Amino acid sequence: MSDIAYLDNAASSVPRPEAIEALLSCVRDHYANPSSAHALGQAARAALEEARGQVADLVGAEAREIVFASGATEANDLAIRGVLEPLLERDARSAEPGGRRGVHAVTTALEHSSVIRTFEALARTGLKLSVVAPRPDGAVRAEDVLAAVGPETALVSVTAVSNELGTVQPLREISMELGSRFRGNDKPLLHTDAVQAVVSSMADFKTLGADLMTISAHKIGGPKGVGALVVRRGVKLSPTLHGGGQEGGLRSGTENVPGIAGFGAAAEALRRKREEESDRYRALRERLLGALAASGLAARPLLPPGTPAAPHILPLECPGMENDFLVLLLSRAGAMVSAGSACKSGTREASSVLIAIGLPDVRAKSVIRVSFGHATSEKDVDRFIEALGEALKKRP
Ligand code: PMP
Repeated sequence: MSDIAYLDNAASSVPRPEAIEALLSCVRDHYANPSSAHALGQAARAALEEARGQVADLVGAEAREIVFASGATEANDLAIRGVLEPLLERDARSAEPGGRRGVHAVTTALEHSSVIRTFEALARTGLKLSVVAPRPDGAVRAEDVLAAVGPETALVSVTAVSNELGTVQPLREISMELGSRFRGNDKPLLHTDAVQAVVSSMADFKTLGADLMTISAHKIGGPKGVGALVVRRGVKLSPTLHGGGQEGGLRSGTENVPGIAGFGAAAEALRRKREEESDRYRALRERLLGALAASGLAARPLLPPGTPAAPHILPLECPGMENDFLVLLLSRAGAMVSAGSACKSGTREASSVLIAIGLPDVRAKSVIRVSFGHATSEKDVDRFIEALGEALKKRP
């Protein structure tokens, strides 16, 4: 495996040694139920609460604002359904036939499927939904998002960093504008999927001004199957899972203590090293782009230089090459990356995000995503360029 360049960290990152150690020691020692009153239960509870503090510190939130869930998919679901379902139910029960106000939400065409599909499912039960298109530079404009917001809008959900493009979205501008336009309970809640933003310091909960924020452990060197929703104090949500009332009643089910401990350790390691890691991603990016330009290979960055983007995500366009085929060729040549496309029930469609920024189908299908993580080295970048050279020689 040592000769493999793993450049798919935005899909799932290389686990950090600290996270592996914390997870394993929890599996071994903290097997008791953290809700049990005895000493072993309380030791598991202490491990859980330590991790809650570590995750809160990473995003500048309070420990009590962290709700652990089974990943970002569930955290997004809790944010969206937790806010909207009670309002939709209340609206459906509304006594006067003409008196129903309707419930409206705003999101963007850049969102991960766990956001967009959850909204679409609610739209089938009566939610009015506006999906704001990004501009060709890969970012939505705050003014476009705000133009879609009206008096019936209950929730606005905008990713902080696009997971496919790496582009930074104007979250702070949106939260400031919502704050100045609306007062008290009339203000729509703002949710952000910050799964990728948190990798490089773009997900400070207070600075962004969001009410709800989603993060995932396996994107920051933690284990899969664990994530969190940050819920600003005072925000009312309905639980989507019912049962024992864990996680402040918002997410029932015995907590995944080992996974959460691994998440906490990864969060702590990332918080300490984030500046240094981000600087390294910028240097790796420069190295990759420099080597690509020097190589004369038929591949180029999708977005123009200077586009505000997270340093660890780099979409590349490889004209004349289908990305799903290229991913396989690269894999054979020793470099692991993602296609910028979604695979839907056997038919390979171009990524809806790339179509939304205005790329024609054929260009959208030629984009691959390279993404760095804490373990990526210069050697991986050099290996990737070599593998790309080999793969592009096999162009049909
Ligand atoms: N949101 C974004 C932006 C993501 O990149 C991902 C992972 N692909 C998710 C949500 C889903 O995360 P999880 O795998 O933890 O459910």
